[in-house]
Amino acid sequence: MEMNLKGLNALVTGASRGIGRQIAIQLARSGANVIVNYNKSKKIAEQLCFDLQQKYNIKALAIQADIGNKNDVDRLVSTACSNFNKIDILVNNAGICCDMELCDRTVGCFEKTFQTNLFGVYQLTKILGAKMKENQFGKIVNVSSNNSINGFYPTTIDYDASKSALNSLTKNFAIELAPYVNVNAVAPGWIDTDMNKDVLTPDVAELEAKRILKNRIGTPEDVANLVLFLISKESDYITGQIIAVDGGMF
Ligand code: NAP
Repeated sequence: MEMNLKGLNALVTGASRGIGRQIAIQLARSGANVIVNYNKSKKIAEQLCFDLQQKYNIKALAIQADIGNKNDVDRLVSTACSNFNKIDILVNNAGICCDMELCDRTVGCFEKTFQTNLFGVYQLTKILGAKMKENQFGKIVNVSSNNSINGFYPTTIDYDASKSALNSLTKNFAIELAPYVNVNAVAPGWIDTDMNKDVLTPDVAELEAKRILKNRIGTPEDVANLVLFLISKESDYITGQIIAVDGGMF
């Protein structure tokens, strides 16, 4: 889909690798200026910004911030806002997942996961959403998971719960920020990224692909295509929705 986002400024969290990186690339390709948030992958994030500026003639800036840390989120917002006069698009993509037997977990595991997957999203959306509401324009897309809808796994109980809570947060912010700011979530199924590199071995991937209607594991592009649609003018009448992009998993 051809899209013109020229002149709009986008912040993508966790954009150094995986799904977030692909979203940043597609935003830049559509003409948006991009803030590439990362946590640890400084070199990769800075190289990505350099490449995007060269290739698409847009402004790109890498900003380190641990989304699970409130002070980092505040610094991310102030650095972003001092470099770009407004933020029009926010993609809350950064997320963590750690596989562990349910009985081996502690409340601390839940706290760590929720800190990044939920509390950080809340903090960032609260601040930037308010600015978008004031500007009477904004597009917010949260990256949830189909683990929040119909694929619950006891070994990722904290992750699944954090993404279910993220769905609720999505709908509540959609209400709070209406009518000018659209807030939606995408819920990917199996996507081939570093997040899955230990669990999605070739054997597991083959087995899992058999229970997916499209018979394959998804790619970051599959998710980014939906995110870009939710940012486009064409999706203006869609808000408060959780949309699966999982190749058909029931
Ligand atoms: P990934 O390959 O592990 O990449 C994670 C990205 O998030 C990296 O750029 C990483 O940055 C960044 N990140 C991690 N923790 C962060 C933090 N505390 N603060 C800021 N950035 C942080 O993951 P992915 O598969 O692309 O997943 C992206 C999103 O999609 C997540 O929300 C995930 O839950 C969701 N999702 C993924 C799948 C899947 O199958 N892959 C399925 C459903 C949903 P650094 O490199 O700088 O550390």
